[in-house]
Amino acid sequence: MFYKSTRNSNLKVDSAQAISQGISEDGGLFVPESIPSLTLDEVKQISELSYSERAAYVFSKFLTDFTDAEIRYCTDNAYNTKNFESENIAEIAHLFDGTYMLELWHGPTCAFKDMALQILPYFLTTSAKKLNIDKKIVILVATSGDTGKAALEGFKDVEGTQIMVFYPENGVSSMQKRQMTTQEGENVGVCAVKGNFDDCQSGVKTIFTDEKVKKALEENSLMFSSANSINWGRLVPQVVYYISAYASLAADGQISLGDKLNVVVPTGNFGNILAAYYAKRMGLPLGKLICASNINNVLTDFINTGVYDRNRKFYATCSPSMDILISSNLERLLYMLTGDNDAQIREWFGALAKDGKYEVTDDIKSKIKEDFYAGFCDDEATKAAIKSVYEKYSYVCDTHTAVAVKVYEDYRRETGDTTRTLIASTASPYKFSASVLEAIAPDFSAEDEYALVDKINELSGIMIPESLASLKNKPVRFSGSIDRNDMSDYVMEQLNIK
Ligand SMILES: *Cc1c(COP(=O)(O)O)cnc(C)c1O
Repeated sequence: MFYKSTRNSNLKVDSAQAISQGISEDGGLFVPESIPSLTLDEVKQISELSYSERAAYVFSKFLTDFTDAEIRYCTDNAYNTKNFESENIAEIAHLFDGTYMLELWHGPTCAFKDMALQILPYFLTTSAKKLNIDKKIVILVATSGDTGKAALEGFKDVEGTQIMVFYPENGVSSMQKRQMTTQEGENVGVCAVKGNFDDCQSGVKTIFTDEKVKKALEENSLMFSSANSINWGRLVPQVVYYISAYASLAADGQISLGDKLNVVVPTGNFGNILAAYYAKRMGLPLGKLICASNINNVLTDFINTGVYDRNRKFYATCSPSMDILISSNLERLLYMLTGDNDAQIREWFGALAKDGKYEVTDDIKSKIKEDFYAGFCDDEATKAAIKSVYEKYSYVCDTHTAVAVKVYEDYRRETGDTTRTLIASTASPYKFSASVLEAIAPDFSAEDEYALVDKINELSGIMIPESLASLKNKPVRFSGSIDRNDMSDYVMEQLNIK
C-alpha cells in the first residue's frame, strides 16, 4: 500500500515515510492510494480479539511496509491497562434503546486524542528506524487543550524524540492547564503564548518553514514532525475503534452482523468523522455519518450548501476543542470524492488560503449528502442536552459529546430515522467540570477545580480518573508565558541550537 499527496497524485511513499514526514512537502496530506476491504466475516472474527489485536489486524491492511512484529510492538505498547483505565480500551455505554455511547476517554489524558496519541510515538520511532533516520525527532504542537496533553503523555521520555507544546494563555480550561503545566518527562517543554489558538498555530507553522531554523536543525541532526491529525499515523488508529465497536455490538447481540449503524461525531478538524468514513468505505455497514458542530458551524454550512467559508466570527465556546474554522482533514475527503483529482484540490485549497473560501461542484455536493448529515448547536443547547441526558438516563456527558447528542436528536426528529446509532463520546466530563456543573448543578459554587471534580463524582458516580486526581499534588513545572514572536527563540533555546 502506497500513499499519495492530496496535492500531487504522482507522489508515492510508503506508510513509514508518510508517518515520519507528517505532511507532504507540497502542502498536501498523505492518503492511501486505495481503500482496503473488510468483510463481515472478518468483523465477526475481530470480535474475539483484544483491542490491541483488533488494532493490529486493521493496521496490517494499511501499514503494509510494517512487519507483523513491528505492528504488534506498537499496539501492545499503546493499548494496555498501564495506559488505559479500561481493559476494553474503549467502553460502550447504552444510553437508550438502540443508542450507544462509544466512550473514547479512558486513556491517560481523558480525551479521545489518547486513542491515537498513545500509539503515534511508536509508529513514528518504528518508521524512523525502518527508514534509517538517525535524527532526533522534534514534535511541535499548537493546542487548544486536548491534543497538547495527549501528545505530551504519548511522547514523554520516548527515546529519540523531544516535544514542545504551545497553548493560548487564556484559552484552555483550568484542568487542561494544570494537566499541561505539571507534565513530567525529560524531553518535554510546555509554553503558554500571549494570544489565542490561531496565534499558537501560525507561530508553529512559521517555525516549521523558517529557513534559519531548518538549517540549524540540519546541522544538529534534528528533524520536525507533526502530532496533529494531518499525520496519517494519527488518523489510522481512529479507524480501528469504529470497526471494534461494531464488532462488539454485533457479538453482544445489540445489532445483527450486516445491520446498518449510524455514527454521530462531535467534530472540529474533521479527523474523527473521517476515520468513520474510511471504516464505511472499507465495508463496515455504517449508515449516516452525522457531523455535529458547535456555533463555529463552518462544517454544517459546508455540508448543507457546498460552500466552505471561513470568513466569519470566531466564537469561544464551552466545547473548546471544536472551536476551529479550518478543518484540515476535509481535504482528504474531497480528494477521495473527486476521484483523486489533485488539480481540483490545489484550486480549492489555494482559494481557501487566498480568499478563505471555496465552493465544490454539484456532483460533489450530492456525494457528500449521501454519506453525511450536519447540524450544530450553541452553548445554551449544549448545556440543556447535558441536563436532559442526566435527568433521563442518569448519565453525565461532557460538553463536546453533548453537542453530538443534541444534533442527533435534531436529526432523528427531522428524518424519523431510527437506525441504531453510535455516538462518539470524546472527553470525560471531568475535563470540562465547570461547564458540566453549570448544566446539572447550577447553584453549586467551588473554590477550585478539585471541588468541581468531587461534585461531578458525587452526581455521576463515574470513578475519578487517577491521572486527574494525582495532579493535585504535582508541582507546576512550566509557568509564565511568552510573546508569539518569541516562539522561535524558545524552540531554539530548548533544542540548544541558538
Ligand atoms: C479534538 C476533539 C474533538 C474534535 O475532533 P476532530 O477529530 O478534530 O474533529 C471533539 N471533542 C474533543 C473532546 C476533542 O478533544
